[in-house]
Amino acid sequence: MNRDDDIRIAQEFRKRQNRQILAVAIALFLVLFAGVVHKRPDIFGAFSSSVLFGVQAVFIAAFIGFTAMNWRCPVCRNHLGGDINRRLCSKCGTRLQ
Ligand SMILES: [Zn+2]
Repeated sequence: MNRDDDIRIAQEFRKRQNRQILAVAIALFLVLFAGVVHKRPDIFGAFSSSVLFGVQAVFIAAFIGFTAMNWRCPVCRNHLGGDINRRLCSKCGTRLQ
């Protein structure tokens, strides 16, 4: 593998990493926001717990689905697991950053 490939892989990983961080932030925000809506029916109107639970379940499922698609090694498509700052792919050993 030459230097250009290394740079392209690092750029692709960086893009995936940024998308993943954004997805975590959005998922956390939505889950917290649903909690606030539940606690403050005076401001947001009364939603039943089952509706809010259903909405949160959809957010979480969407987040898991997004992660399964996005959080992969750019070279071998191996899922990268829980470490957002992973340096090497555990399967093919490609340097990611
Ligand atoms: Zn890999």
